[in-house]
Amino acid sequence: MKPTIGFPATLFYYTDAPFWYTFFENIGYKVIFSSATNNKTLDAGIRVTVTDACVPIKVYHGHVIALKDKVDCLFIPRYVSLEKKETFCPKFLGLPSMVRSSIPGLPEIIAPDIELGRFFSQWRFCSELAERTGVSFAKVIQAVRQAGKVQKNYLRLLRQGYIPQKALKLIKGEFNAGSPNRQGDLNIAVLGYPYQIHDSHISVNLLKQLKQLGVNIWTMEMVSENMLRPYRKIMAKNHFWHFSNRVIWSLFYFLNKGNLDGVIHVTAFACGPDAMVDKFMELELKQRKIPFMPITIDEHSGEAGVRTRLEAFVDMIRHRRQYQ
Ligand code: SF4
Repeated sequence: MKPTIGFPATLFYYTDAPFWYTFFENIGYKVIFSSATNNKTLDAGIRVTVTDACVPIKVYHGHVIALKDKVDCLFIPRYVSLEKKETFCPKFLGLPSMVRSSIPGLPEIIAPDIELGRFFSQWRFCSELAERTGVSFAKVIQAVRQAGKVQKNYLRLLRQGYIPQKALKLIKGEFNAGSPNRQGDLNIAVLGYPYQIHDSHISVNLLKQLKQLGVNIWTMEMVSENMLRPYRKIMAKNHFWHFSNRVIWSLFYFLNKGNLDGVIHVTAFACGPDAMVDKFMELELKQRKIPFMPITIDEHSGEAGVRTRLEAFVDMIRHRRQYQ
């Protein structure tokens, strides 16, 4: 029987799950994803984490708890960087250690360092895995290539406007969706980290609520690295953090497209990197006279409160239009 590997369905799940899913399936593992976040997951994560951790990290711990007794091992990579001069936030860097020290009774943890700026770190990971699993090095490399192809396809679906969950189902052949609808009268960029925006539990269904209000939503996953290229040097100095830079660069991309009616920044309470990103967006959009609303989420966020703010924001933009 195939060994099972647990993959918590949050954080880099939204960006890289197809790659890792294909990779592990190709070297003989059965991949088990945790279910979508719910109250139980969140409460379990809150119980084992420090109070001032951001909600995505609390949720991650909850997903690990949901998986730990159902799998032979867990995959908790340490995302360091995907390119030079950038890194992931300190919580990503310490993730495997945090999980190990906070949750008792864990199975074996596979925790490679993902540091694409350093070429040899990937080959070391592949050869270690080949040794550990008894799979040949050549097969591991073949699995990496296959995973790369699937990931490319996934990114293409995100560009077309599919949310990560639907795109994942599409590439697994589980879901037959039509094209994403764009029939609203307003275009609003909803910017923030994918694990906040696309986790409907912690974002209290923000995307769905906006759609119900007749809004066309634009997120940073809809902009490819190539499309971002012209904006990579737009700031006097980029941030250190991978996701923060992409939030800012996508903002400039959407601003340059010229059809934006407003911007919503979804940020997690106690997120260090976002403190700067949020202020930067506020100043830039004030200068351009484009409506801006930050929404800070934490474990106490409620759907009714967010709904009231979204309705007010959308009404204000429609009202403003009448006088332009
Ligand atoms: S970037 Fe912010 S929200 Fe994301 S894990 Fe780090 S502190 Fe949390």
